Amino acid sequence: MKPGVSVPRLSELLLRSTLLARLRYWAGRKRRSLLKAIDPDTPLLERSLIRTVRRKFPWLPGGGDFPACLAADAFDMDGYFAQLSETYRPHANPFHYYEQFVDVVESSPLTAIRPLFELFAPGAEQRRVMGIRHDIDADPVTAVRCARHLAARGICGSFYLLHSAPYYGHFAHNLFLRNPQLRGWVMGLVAAGCEIGVHNDALKVYLEWGKDGASALETEIAWLRMLGARVRGTVAHNSGPTYGAENFEIFSGRTLWARQLTDRRGRALPLDNLAEAKLGLAYEGTFAKRKHRFDRDAAERFFADREAASVRSEAWMRRYLLDNPALDWAIDYQFWLVGKDSWVAAGRFADEELFEWQVDLDRVRQLVLRLPAGSRTVFVVHPEYVRG
Ligand SMILES: [Zn+2]
Repeated sequence: MKPGVSVPRLSELLLRSTLLARLRYWAGRKRRSLLKAIDPDTPLLERSLIRTVRRKFPWLPGGGDFPACLAADAFDMDGYFAQLSETYRPHANPFHYYEQFVDVVESSPLTAIRPLFELFAPGAEQRRVMGIRHDIDADPVTAVRCARHLAARGICGSFYLLHSAPYYGHFAHNLFLRNPQLRGWVMGLVAAGCEIGVHNDALKVYLEWGKDGASALETEIAWLRMLGARVRGTVAHNSGPTYGAENFEIFSGRTLWARQLTDRRGRALPLDNLAEAKLGLAYEGTFAKRKHRFDRDAAERFFADREAASVRSEAWMRRYLLDNPALDWAIDYQFWLVGKDSWVAAGRFADEELFEWQVDLDRVRQLVLRLPAGSRTVFVVHPEYVRG
């Protein structure tokens, strides 16, 4: 050993030169099966990969990070963020807009801003209870920025990481590779003190990736907790028409109506099967609930019409948020940011009905001031709409 070459540095070199070379050799031209070469039966859990590598290379230094250097090659985040900028340019507000929005929510009188896990907690009967839900569909960098802004204002918002998003990870054979940068974003959210949850896309894992979606969800909850996130809830990604079911229907007691859905190979999806309490989950943050009066045909037609489902369609958003034939909402109001200074506001309280389409922040301010005491409102923000 040359003087000056530290042990970690040497091991890193060996890891990169020997292990990667061997893996590439075994993987041959099938790059997607790169990690299969380590252990053909490697299950979803990253931990088992770590165990395998440790057994084969016991001299490696401690820490759980080294599988990341295997995964790093599989992610092109510069390309991803360039594409993201392009896609959201017509719809994105400057970040300052988010700050103004927080002012609107915070400055209205008799308001209690709560993380979603406390939305239904007692003690705010005479107040307007509000939660700020961030569905991180595409932009984790702006999500961390939002969380830091809320931290500076002393507000606890709720942030949900989408485990099926390209920024999060993807499957290589049977192994789920997490983007090596993901850990840093999660730590940024943890440090900001916000609520962190999972944006549940278990049905995509079953239907589009042919893998075990429930297990994927469980694994990511465990992984986020390992990093210090106190995961108490999930929020379903997409809506019923995307997969013919809402993502939250995989949870026991949350199916909207009894039916059987199958994947491409004809295997039944395990709806109504995963126990939230066993996973330490206390709520589902879309706050959807079964309908009191139910027209099954109308619900099936709504879920079957994937073409119509769009946040850019006034008719569809009205149906989804206000006259949904498949479900009701346990919350009273929802405000969705859907574009440049553009919101959809919908809900009901007592007999009063609200639906306003593509309204600006000034109108949101007026509407917020009119919300009745004792009502519960969720603001839905996708960080890519405030990425600047
Ligand atoms: Zn989403």
